Amino acid sequence: MKDIRVRFAPSPTGALHIGGVRTALYNYLLAKKHGGTFILRIEDTDQNRYVPGAEDYIIEALKWCGIEPAEGPGIGGEYGPYRQSERKAIYAEYTQKLIDSGNAYYAFDTDEELQAMRDEYEAKKEVFKYGHANRRRLNNSLNLSAEETQAKLESGAPYTVRLKVPTDQAVNIQDLVRDTVTFQSNELDDKIMMKSDGMPTYHLANVVDDRLMRITHVIRGEEWLPSTAHHVLLYRAFGWEDEMPQFAHLPLIMKPTGKGKLSKRDGAKLGIPVFPLSWEGKTEEDSFTGFREFGFDPRAVVNFLAFLGWNPGTEQEIFSLQELTEAFDVEKIVKSGARFDFDKAKWFNEQYLIHSDNAALAKAVRPAVDAAGYEASDEFLEQFVGMLKERVTFITDFVPQGYYFFEPVKSYEEKMIRKKWKPDNRAKFEELIDFIKNIDDFTTDNLTEKIKGWINEDSGMGFGQVLPILRLATSGTMKGPDVFAMMALLGKEEVAARLSKGYDAFDEIKAAQ
Ligand code: GLU
Repeated sequence: MKDIRVRFAPSPTGALHIGGVRTALYNYLLAKKHGGTFILRIEDTDQNRYVPGAEDYIIEALKWCGIEPAEGPGIGGEYGPYRQSERKAIYAEYTQKLIDSGNAYYAFDTDEELQAMRDEYEAKKEVFKYGHANRRRLNNSLNLSAEETQAKLESGAPYTVRLKVPTDQAVNIQDLVRDTVTFQSNELDDKIMMKSDGMPTYHLANVVDDRLMRITHVIRGEEWLPSTAHHVLLYRAFGWEDEMPQFAHLPLIMKPTGKGKLSKRDGAKLGIPVFPLSWEGKTEEDSFTGFREFGFDPRAVVNFLAFLGWNPGTEQEIFSLQELTEAFDVEKIVKSGARFDFDKAKWFNEQYLIHSDNAALAKAVRPAVDAAGYEASDEFLEQFVGMLKERVTFITDFVPQGYYFFEPVKSYEEKMIRKKWKPDNRAKFEELIDFIKNIDDFTTDNLTEKIKGWINEDSGMGFGQVLPILRLATSGTMKGPDVFAMMALLGKEEVAARLSKGYDAFDEIKAAQ
């Protein structure tokens, strides 16, 4: 196979939607798998839609995910520049080639003339499409002599350049995901290639650049499939059809309900991220919270995105970027829409936390610990994260969920206390404090053994009566980690203090019943 070269070609029109990150990821995986090259190209020829900051956002988002382009703006490469706004002269040259070969023509139609055509079609209950059926009646160079055309151009009359779509041709696209997709040229309009401001349209710039940048595979969202018909015609017009890239159109990303396409607005509506990073737009409507700010580990996001439209055909779900690179296969991309299952995204994040090394997690949690004004050694934090990591979803959950490792219990789960606390047993529970105070080896194993022994032999109560009370007095909640491990980490003095304070609180809760 010849050297694979793929590109991610976003338009900097705002924050990059998570679907764009998936497109970038699939391109990146294909390139990496075959030792090829992944390129970032910024498609910024539509000046009206240009949004400052969007390019930086795209670059930062890719970086956060570990998807690093080998060529692109700010990186360089042999085929630059990689920002389309810096390639205007190239597009002018190729537009001229299309005109010279008879595959494109100048269109001088004014807005009023075009509107008149639209009205005429509307009156017939049809939609006006500038193309083979009517191009001979319109104000373009096909209907003017060479001299007339020249005179018009010299007079400075505004014009666009349109592709002359051939009649009666079948346009076949061999899509790696969808097999053969066929369009009839008679249904296609004469798309504008060069706008009146001298900027190329997406279609021209995209095809010219894919060719000049030696792109071998075009992997992009399904919404671009209809444009591909025009792209194939352009390759044909330039005489490049034999070396056209291979196309793969990715399935749509559907809402969490599975019904309808996931939209930007769904994020705010459902309180979930649909963008990789937060974005401050001009209005609140245009501002979004990102996966990063939501507390996601980028590895989990990449793993989640990889499965949005692809699967390895095995049971394995946890894949590092490196493993994805090895397992990825364009042939296994699915055709049907992929449901954006946010619970699954959270599940991936939980898996990454569980499998993270405690020292790394402790480091990641440290800023939140400091910000809360808590003091804790590295060793303490490592044990803390080790105990909680199977119980949290996000890195940001550790401190709020485990605050009681750093300060006294703030509130108790009263319902459980009303059920489990028998004031008559208080004397026995006081004995437990003394018993605990006499345990010298304050480790999880020893505490487990000794306290269980005490329950069995001396308490006159069962595990189900004692352990919940111990747990509630120590942490306030039934949801925490192993009670003996918590006690060992908190230390003897602290545990003894929490027990007596807890018993008082429990008596009060009972009395208020
Ligand atoms: N600029 C297009 C976009 O914003 C690129 C589509 C393509 O990959 O051809 O998605």
